[in-house]
This record gives sequence, structure tokens and C-alpha cells, in this order.
Amino acid sequence: MSVTETLPDTAPDKGGPAQPLLIVRDLQKYFPVRGGILGGRKAVVQAVDGVSFEVKKGETLGIVGESGCGKSTTARLLIGLIDKDRGEIIYDGQDLGGTLSLRDLRRGVQMVFQDSYASLNPRLTIEESIAFGARIQGLPDPVGRARRLMERVGLSPDRFAQRYPHEVSGGQRQRINIARALAMSPRLVVLDEAVSALDKSVEAQVLNLLADLRREFGLTYIFISHDLNVVRYISDRILVMYLGEVVEVAPVDQIWSRQAHPYTRSLFSAMPSMDPDNRTLEPPLSGDPPNPINPPSGCRFHTRCRLAESACKTRVPTLRPLSVGSEHLAACHLHDLGSGHSKAGKDVLA
Ligand code: SF4
Repeated sequence: MSVTETLPDTAPDKGGPAQPLLIVRDLQKYFPVRGGILGGRKAVVQAVDGVSFEVKKGETLGIVGESGCGKSTTARLLIGLIDKDRGEIIYDGQDLGGTLSLRDLRRGVQMVFQDSYASLNPRLTIEESIAFGARIQGLPDPVGRARRLMERVGLSPDRFAQRYPHEVSGGQRQRINIARALAMSPRLVVLDEAVSALDKSVEAQVLNLLADLRREFGLTYIFISHDLNVVRYISDRILVMYLGEVVEVAPVDQIWSRQAHPYTRSLFSAMPSMDPDNRTLEPPLSGDPPNPINPPSGCRFHTRCRLAESACKTRVPTLRPLSVGSEHLAACHLHDLGSGHSKAGKDVLA
């Protein structure tokens, strides 16, 4: 990656290139269900349960999974929009709640949401919208910064600066949201379904813009999407979530050629593909995801997994490398030698 410049006033790197920019350990978030009782206790939605991962400096980590798998809740936890119940969020070597304040986290980590219109204050002009956060943070020259970023994301300041969000298209609004995020000089940008609401042609333009900005400013992305083809295009690694847990993580080329977890396999089989090398005979996922208020015991996927055995109902699989030193991790007893699973050790998913 050749970085030509960084955004002005970007916080200096603390730990060097080898230290991950973000480390998430055992993150948990349960939401209480109003008036709900389960087994004599207050019912909770187990939205995120024991999620751990790292994001390297300069990479794009794609997060995929069905609706309700916890990927957007994870994103909101990462930028401090909601409080975690348990776990650690370590940004550039500093622990949120310890040496890292919420204010500093929000300078370093910015987010772009799916709904480009709801993200913007309809009473602010585009120039004011982009400059707003930088002004609040006390960054120098917020208006000049906003105008330079407008230029960079393809919106002429002379034409667009004094317009309001309802006067521009969805693609242009998402460019405004990207400029608004970059105006805070972040190092990590969380993109939560940021291109999902756009037409395909506009989506491609915004994806290319994001790729260019990452290269140009040495940014790091977490890219959340339900669209595997889009995630493949922009990501270096892919993390798969199911019912609040991480079930597989791998570099894009590795997971594309071999999905180690039966859930990932089903997700890929449901994806439209023109590539004859990438068609699988795997039956698509059947049924709806289980209720996150009362998730299945053992492996949470066992109620939908065609390879499930009795041990899967009681033993929780651990996320572990497929081989020593591998960057490809999966949480499935199939890859867990000595688990007692009759197919363990056999490459049944190859
Ligand atoms: Fe299927 Fe068992 Fe693996 Fe879970 S642990 S994905 S139920 S084979």
C-alpha cells in the first residue's frame, strides 16, 4: 500500500505497523426485552456474545452474516454509540474506558451508515454538515477542511456547498457522509451497509472512491455488508458472524476458495455467481435464524446444520486456526480433532 499523505491532524501512530489498529476481545452486548421473562429470569436479546477479532493497520476487514447476526451492533459498540456489557476494545494500544476516552475514540474511529439521509441534519447545508464534527472537536479551519474534502469525494464546493441534503441524490449524500467522516481525520472508518441502498452503477463508483481514499490516506476500514460480492471486492479479510458470534475469519482468497464452516458454506451457496469455479452443490440455508433471546445450546448453528451430531448440541466450538499458524480460523467441531465428531479430521467441506 503506498500512502501519499495522511488526513490533516491525524493522530500519530503509537504502536508501529505490527500492532493491530483495533483489538476486540470477548465483546458482549445483551439488550433487555421489555416485560420479557425466560426461565424465571429477565429475558435478553444476546445480540453480541463473546466476539473477538483484530484489525490490522491499513487493511479492510469485511463483516458478513444474516440480518440479526450482530454485525451492526458490533459496529455501534466499536464507536461507542452503545455501551458494552463486557469485553475490551483496544484502539491503537489504548483500552476504551482505561487510557482511551470516548472522545479520543470518536476522533480515531468514524462511521458511515446505510441511510445517507437520516445520517445528515436536514437543516444544515452540505458544507456545514461536513464541517460540524471538526468544529466541535476544535480542529483547525473546519470550513476549508470541508471544502477540500468535498472536492476529493467528487462534489464541487461551488455547486454543492450551500445545498441541503434533500437537494442531492442518494449517491451524492453518501459522498457527503464519507467526507463528513474523513473531516474528523480518523484512522479507522466503519462502513455499515454504506453502499447497500445505492444503484449498482453508483455503488461501484462509491466503492472505487472508498478504495482510492484508503490508499491515499492510509485508512483502515471495517466494511459491513450482506453482499458477499461487494465484500470480496473491497476486503482483505472476511469475518463471518452467526447469531452474535464469530464463526469464521480468513483472508479473502482463502475463504473464497474454501469455506471451513458449514454456515459460511451455505451463505456462499446462496450467492448469485457467474463464476463456474465458484458454484457449490451445498443446499442453501433453510429456516430462519433461531431466536437470539434463547439461542441453541452448544454450537448455535446446530439447528440448521446438516453435519450436526449430538456433541454439537452440548459442546461450544472454539474459534481456532485450521492448521498451526494459519490465518484461516473457524469455530466448528469438524476442524476440532479429538472432538468426537465422526467427521472430524476429514475435509468434508472441501
Ligand atoms: Fe455444524 Fe457441529 Fe460444526 Fe456446528 S460444530 S457447524 S453443528 S458440524
